[in-house]
Parts: sequence; structure tokens; C-alpha cells
Amino acid sequence: MNKIYFSVGPTEVFPEVKNFLNEAIKEKYFSISHRSEKFSEIYKLTCDELKKLLNIPDDYYIFFLGSATECMERIIQNLVEKKSYHFINGYFAGRFYNISKSLKKKQGQVKASYDDGFRFDKIKIPQDTELICFTQNETSTGMAIDMQDIYKIKEKNPDKIVAVDIVSSVPYVEIDYRKIDCAFFSVQKGFGLPPGLGVVVIKKNCIEKTKILKEKKINIGGYYDFIMLAENAEKFQTAVTPNIPGIYLLGKVCKMLNNKGIDKIWKETEEKAELLYNILSKHKYINPFIKNEKDRSYTTLVFDVAINSGIIADKMSKKGFEISRGYRDLKDTQIRIANFPVHKLEEVKKLIKALYRL
Ligand SMILES: *Cc1c(COP(=O)(O)O)cnc(C)c1O
Repeated sequence: MNKIYFSVGPTEVFPEVKNFLNEAIKEKYFSISHRSEKFSEIYKLTCDELKKLLNIPDDYYIFFLGSATECMERIIQNLVEKKSYHFINGYFAGRFYNISKSLKKKQGQVKASYDDGFRFDKIKIPQDTELICFTQNETSTGMAIDMQDIYKIKEKNPDKIVAVDIVSSVPYVEIDYRKIDCAFFSVQKGFGLPPGLGVVVIKKNCIEKTKILKEKKINIGGYYDFIMLAENAEKFQTAVTPNIPGIYLLGKVCKMLNNKGIDKIWKETEEKAELLYNILSKHKYINPFIKNEKDRSYTTLVFDVAINSGIIADKMSKKGFEISRGYRDLKDTQIRIANFPVHKLEEVKKLIKALYRL
């Protein structure tokens, strides 16, 4: 059976990827040297298409790493001497916090209530904080943070660096990059691509902080650091042999999405999300986990379920739909459904119908 993956990541891969891959193999793009001009061309094309799609200004670098989790580690290592501060709205935000801890930094944190979100007006970031970390779209809980709230925190703390995890909301989430310093993601969620590529978007002047850490003999990493990544990015090169298929495919998918238009992606994502929330809210066994509508994710939707999620997932799988179960402790009592650009409205309607015929 031809299954559709509505899992929150990895997820369904764009059908066009097959042709992109065939073409790349024919052209021998995966055999060329990463020091060659052809590779620089591929790298530059991906950066150009990505910058166009996400509206990234010119004074930002794009770094390619191995995963979003690696991005978290590199960001802490290269931007924090002593202390990071974390907005915790679920497990992935917790992972960012734990990475800071294992790198022997100090941490501050504030935890969201799942009924009420964050009380942004009440939050005071300690003065000695260097980096403020957000998980804009928490894939474990389905809680999203409004970018406006993140901009306000940055406005109140202009001397601190703000880093935002957008793994499961990109490319849908609209960001004014000038109002933050850094964002990062991997490609196996919203970009509908095979896994194995992490991407950091970072304001060029943040590298000054890395240089200070280096002068102070703080460990900024072994085979990768932001100074080295920045020097290479200027020349459209990489420090090591990178994930060339990943970089190539990201460029191709960004180009395809640019042709479609980001405004269409916004509109379709909202239409599908509202349909899912509105109709599933009336379901006998299914209820949105995040009660406050303004805190709900439009790209990774989490629902409490009154029957074991394993039974629901199995039945859905037999009907041709892969969905995710709850994260960790909530495995049995929740389901998670992805709503990424790869997911078509018609398929979402079929998924909803199938959920009503469990
Ligand atoms: C999946 C996910 C990650 C981890 O991504 P990897 O590429 O597996 O390292 C981090 N943050 C969020 C919000 C995620 O959904």
C-alpha cells in the first residue's frame, strides 16, 4: 500500500525528490570534490534559494551541519562563555538546556504551562545571560511561540544573543531575521527531505563573540567552530566533506517552493491546520492538547486521545496513514500529526475521515 507519512519527522518526502536525485546522479554531483567550483555553485544556489524563501538578509551566514541537535551544541559552544537561558515548552527545549549543561555552562530557565503558555510580561532574564534559547515550535507538545513575543524579549535584552529552534515550523514560520540573531533547523520535517542535514542561520556579527571565546581559550569545538565555518561560507566552501546530497536537495526543494510562493505555503498551512483542529475537536476520542488556541502549533498538532494511541496508530497505518504517537511519557495517551508543505489538503481531508472511522 502507498502510505502517506503524517509523522512529525522524519515525514513524507516530496515526490519531486526522486527526480532531483536521479538528475544529480546522472550529472555525478555526488562524486565531485567539495573543493571544486561545481560544488561552490551548488552551495551558493542552495544559499540563494533558502535566503529568498525565508527572506534572510545578506548579513547572515548559513552553516551546514549534521542535525538540529548538533546545531544546538555548536551554538552553545560558540556563543556562550558562562550562561544560557532557556524557554522550556517541551522535550526539545529541554534537550537544548541539557546540552548547555553537559558543556559545563550555567543555565537559567522558565517553564511554560500547557494551559497558559509563557507569561512573557513577567519573565526577567538574568543580567549575566549571554544566549537566550527558544524552541519556537515544540514538536513534543505542539506548543508554538508567537515570533512577536520573541522579538519583544530581544528588544528588552538587546545585548544578549537570541537563538531560535525552528526545526518543525520552517518554512512556514515567518521571521524578521533582523529581530533575532540565530535560527536553526534540520530538513526532515517541514522541508520534506531525507534526514541528515542541520542548518544554522546566524547574523555575521555573532562571530565576534566566538572570537572572544577563542581568545579566552574557551573550548569552541574540535573539527567545527563558527570562525572556521564563517571563513568557509564566505568562499562557498565547507571545512570538511559535507552532506552534498542534502545541500543539493535542499536547494532544489527551496527553488520549487519559491516557484510556488511562500504566501501560498502560509495560506495552505493555515487552512489545513484549522481544518484539523476544528473537525478533530469534535471527535469522541480526540482533543487538542494545548488548550489556548494562540499557543497551538499549526505544523505539528498534538492531541490527547481517550483510547491507547498505539491502537489508533495501528489502525491508521492499515488505512495508509502513518501518524506519530505521543512523545516519551505521553506515548500512549497522545497522537501527533504533521501539517507540512508536503501534505496536501486532499490528503488531510482523507486523514480526518479515516480518524472518524477508527
Ligand atoms: C526534531 C527536532 C529536533 C532534533 O532534530 P535532529 O535533526 O533530529 O537533531 C530539535 N528540535 C525540534 C523542535 C525538533 O522537532
